[in-house]
Amino acid sequence: MFLLLLCAGCRRPGRQGNHEWNGLVMGTYVTISVPATDADRLDQAVPEIKQALEAIEADLSIFRPDSEVSRINSNAGSWVEVSTQTAHLVQQSLEYARLSEGAFNPAVLPLIHAWGLHGAQAPPQWLNEATLAPLRELVDWRKLAVESNRVRLAAAGMQLDLGAIAKGYAVDLCYRMLHARSMTNIMVNLGGDLRCSGGTGRNPYWIVGVRNPFNRSQIIGRLLLSGGDAVSTSGNYERFIEIDGRRGAHIIDPRSGYPVEGMAGVTVLAADSLTADALSTALFVMEMQQGGNLVNSMDNCAALFVPDRQPLEIYLTPGMRERFVPEPAFAAAVRQL
Ligand code: FAD
Ligand code: MG
Repeated sequence: MFLLLLCAGCRRPGRQGNHEWNGLVMGTYVTISVPATDADRLDQAVPEIKQALEAIEADLSIFRPDSEVSRINSNAGSWVEVSTQTAHLVQQSLEYARLSEGAFNPAVLPLIHAWGLHGAQAPPQWLNEATLAPLRELVDWRKLAVESNRVRLAAAGMQLDLGAIAKGYAVDLCYRMLHARSMTNIMVNLGGDLRCSGGTGRNPYWIVGVRNPFNRSQIIGRLLLSGGDAVSTSGNYERFIEIDGRRGAHIIDPRSGYPVEGMAGVTVLAADSLTADALSTALFVMEMQQGGNLVNSMDNCAALFVPDRQPLEIYLTPGMRERFVPEPAFAAAVRQL
C-alpha cells in the first residue's frame, strides 16, 4: 500500500481506538474504520458491504473466467449483455481515456499480458517495435463501445481491464453504504485507494501518510483528509517487472506499448475515489506538466508527483500545496508544478 493510515489519525485519546473491519477482496486488503461508538452499526453493515464487493468481483474481475468482463473478452467482436454496474464502469473508463488522450486505457490488457504482468509468462527480453506495433493496434480504446446495458470490443484479440478504476468505484460504493447507515466518521481503504469523512479523536480530519517510493518504511509527508476526500496512489515499486536487469512499472503507456519509466509515484486527491483512482493511473503515464494541467482543469482535484530519479523531488499542483504537509526531512525536496 502506498498510502499509510497513520496511527495518530486512527486513535481516539481516552478511548479504545477505532473499530475496524478487515477483509480480503480483489487480491488486496480492505479496511473500514469507524469510531468505537459506531462498532455495532459497522458490524450490521458488513454483510451488505461484503455482498456488494462480491458483486463487483463477479462483474469486473479479469481473474475470474466467469465474470462479465471475462465474458466480454472471450466474445470480442460481439455485443455482450452486462449489468448496469459493468456498463457504468466501462462508460466511466472511456471518459478517462478521452480526458487523458489515451494515457488511461481500459483496453490495455493485451500489452499487460505481453509484458508478463498479471501472472502471464514474462518475455525473455525487453519487447521490440516489431512485437509492440500490432499490440498497439489491438489496444485501441476507441474500438470499445457501450450502449445502455451492452458492451462490445470491436476486434478479436481485444481485451478489457477495469483494474485501474474499479477499486476506486468499490470504495465509493462502501462509503455511500456507510453514510446511508448514518456513519459519518469513516475511513474506507481498499488496497491504498482511500476515502474518508469526519475525523477521529479531537481532530476533525484523518491523517494519511504518503510513502517514500524509494524507502517503504518512510513517509515523505501527510495529507489531512475529511469531508468525503478521496486519495489514490499509483507507483512503480509494489508491482513491477524486471527483464534483463531493466525494471518497468506495472502501468503501461498504451501509446508506446512500453512500461512507464521515469515516474516513481503519483498521488491524486479528489472528491470521490473513482476519480482519484483513474487519475492516479492516467497521470502516472502522462508527461508531468500535462498531468498537472489536467488535474488543475478538474474540480477539487490535486496531485503529487515523485519522479523516478535521485535526488528525490516532490512536485505539487496548487491544490496539493494547501493539503500536503511534508516531513521535515523532505521539505527542501518540494517543488511547485
Ligand atoms: P492502478 O494504478 O490503479 O492500476 C494499475 C493497473 O491497471 C495495472 O495493474 C493494469 O491492470 C492496469 N493498467 C496498466 N496500465 C494501464 C493504463 N495505461 N490504463 C489503464 N489501466 C492500466 N489482483 C490479484 O492479484 N488477484 C486477484 O484475484 C485480483 N482480483 C481483482 C478483482 C477486481 C474486480 C479488481 C478491480 C482488481 C483485482 N486485482 C486482483 C487487482 C488488479 O489486478 C490490479 O492490480 C489493481 O486493480 C491495480 O490497482 P493499483 O492500485 O495497484 O494500480
Ligand atoms: Mg488507478
